[in-house]
Amino acid sequence: MIFHNPSGAPELACEQCGCRWFDRMHGTCYECGSQVPAEAIAEFDRALQAFWAKSAATEESPTVPGAKPPADA
Ligand SMILES: [Zn+2]
Repeated sequence: MIFHNPSGAPELACEQCGCRWFDRMHGTCYECGSQVPAEAIAEFDRALQAFWAKSAATEESPTVPGAKPPADA
C-alpha cells in the first residue's frame, strides 16, 4: 500500500502491518518480514516519479516570466 506524507511524497508501506520500513535489498518488511510484492514496488516507483515530476515542475516554473533579469545582464 502507498501512503502520502504531509508534503505529498509517496511512501511505501507494508501490506501486512502497515509500517513503512523496508529492506530494499531484500524487498521485505523490517517489522514483520513479509515480502513486498514487486508490483507494489513498481507502483511506488511510479508514484514517486510522478511526485518528483510534479515538484520539479512547480519549483522551476517562474511565477512571473521575465520579471527577474539574468544576474549577469
Ligand atoms: Zn510489515
